[in-house]
Amino acid sequence: MYRGTGAGVSAGIGIGTAVVIREEEMVIRPDKTDDVRAEVERFRKALADTAARTERLAADLAEKVGEKEAEIMKGHLLLLADPVLIGEIEAAISGSGICSEYAVETVLGNYADVFASMDDEMMRQRAADMKDIKVRLQQALQGIRSADIASLPEGSVIVARDLTPSMTAGINPANVAAIVTELGGKTSHSAILARALEIPAVVAVSGLLEQVADGDRVIADGGEGVVLANPDETVTEDYAARRDGLLRGKKELEAYIGRPSVTRDGVAVEIGANIGKPEDVDKVLRYDGEGVGLFRTEFLFMERSAMPSEEEQFEAYRAVASRLEGRPVIIRTLDIGGDKEIPYMGIEKDENPFLGFRAVRLCLNRKEDIYKPQLRAILRASAFGNIKIMIPMVTCIDEVREVKALLEELKQELDEKGIPYNREIQTGIMVETAAAALMADVFAKEVDFFSIGTNDLTQYVMSVDRGNEKVSYLYSSFNPAVLRSIRHIIACGRKAGIMVGMCGEAASDPMMIPLLLAFGLNEFSMSASAILRTRKLITESSVKELQAVAERAMSFETAKEVEDYMREFVSQ
Ligand code: PEP
Ligand code: MG
Repeated sequence: MYRGTGAGVSAGIGIGTAVVIREEEMVIRPDKTDDVRAEVERFRKALADTAARTERLAADLAEKVGEKEAEIMKGHLLLLADPVLIGEIEAAISGSGICSEYAVETVLGNYADVFASMDDEMMRQRAADMKDIKVRLQQALQGIRSADIASLPEGSVIVARDLTPSMTAGINPANVAAIVTELGGKTSHSAILARALEIPAVVAVSGLLEQVADGDRVIADGGEGVVLANPDETVTEDYAARRDGLLRGKKELEAYIGRPSVTRDGVAVEIGANIGKPEDVDKVLRYDGEGVGLFRTEFLFMERSAMPSEEEQFEAYRAVASRLEGRPVIIRTLDIGGDKEIPYMGIEKDENPFLGFRAVRLCLNRKEDIYKPQLRAILRASAFGNIKIMIPMVTCIDEVREVKALLEELKQELDEKGIPYNREIQTGIMVETAAAALMADVFAKEVDFFSIGTNDLTQYVMSVDRGNEKVSYLYSSFNPAVLRSIRHIIACGRKAGIMVGMCGEAASDPMMIPLLLAFGLNEFSMSASAILRTRKLITESSVKELQAVAERAMSFETAKEVEDYMREFVSQ
């Protein structure tokens, strides 16, 4: 039996028969052409063919999984229509009279090398997209069809050196039990697509192709990052049982789609999703989210070279609000600084970024070019759905008052221009700093809702950088100091009669949920994939019964004691 390890990038267990994909090596030589004009025509035809095939892949993917996943193929389409790229290739053909294959090799190969040499992992992964379109263009030029992945027999485990995004997009999930590759990483587009298609996948398994042959029996565990080839009966049975258990669990959760989130003793709460881009709404709808509890708008500003315009932002906010058809959407205004940098904004790096020029501090300092356009875009979009505004990293009441005054000013402006918006739009705050937690009673009188950001609240209450491994032993939301803050914030919000939600990671932690229910939290917001298991847990709980559990948990003096107690409670 062969056992290989790599990175598990798409959870689940797949068992099946290996189909080893060996891409034909294309020999690309710098052949000369006599007829430059005809050669350019030949390139243009291959370009059109490749674009047409990519368009079909994008449409297919949009139907199979969703608009967001199709974006990757649409990105390829943009590259295939990029006038600079096309111009450079055509110039190489006409300028030096080389064949199209070689011109494509030089131009796109160079871009791929540049991306591959960058420090940023995301940028490095974009090299794979460049190579993918390069090879497909060359295949089109040579009349080669790439491995026909769409029609593999049922129960296939794809074994390959690397999978290009377009190959992954062409997969029929009904026939593919798992994907295993020698190369690749967690953020590669093929990994993202594997997750979207819910196919177990393990990547970066070194030496894989020397160990696994076509027709071998293969087990891939995408959670653990393990690959087995030709295992014995008992191992196979053991994995098959685990796979069936996982699938049963998934089916069981589907039963919670369309069910209300109400505890056994009749307490109704809301379970929403955290999103970063309009396309994420696909998943919110798939997992039956009751709204969006946190729209991290900074993602609209990242991975680009200039600020999104007010118009662009308006379109994004409107798209989310209208697709959610009346369900609430909490749009958090720009939260950059801290660990999120945006190079084109020209913001100097702070000595202590998490304690520095971040979020609302930065926005109030850059009203004209950053904050007003964003707030105006949100206000305008509020005419198209149930939008609420949320201010991040608030520490003082003056910040809230300043934002509210700004909103009033913008509303008046819109009134004068006759532009519609929701006059009753709610404004709330993230409660995620120690100052806001301590002053929660004061804030509760000034805002329409709270959303507790435990990711930062833990960092700021414990004085522990959320990204620093060396002090991560101190970073626990179960620390009594953090728990007391959470309980206090919820109590203040409830006393003032406003909604209190939570959008930090703790909101979907099965060990934390019982405590949050006991404290009286109204809304839980989390990654969409955690919604159904949270709804199951909540519907099985009784707030009355949890009071004693919370009381006991709050009597401990260390995070470890609380964690041990809650782990024990949950395991029962
Ligand atoms: C939080 O701080 O808990 C939160 C939800 O926001 P972010 O992780 O974006 O800082
Ligand atoms: Mg935060």
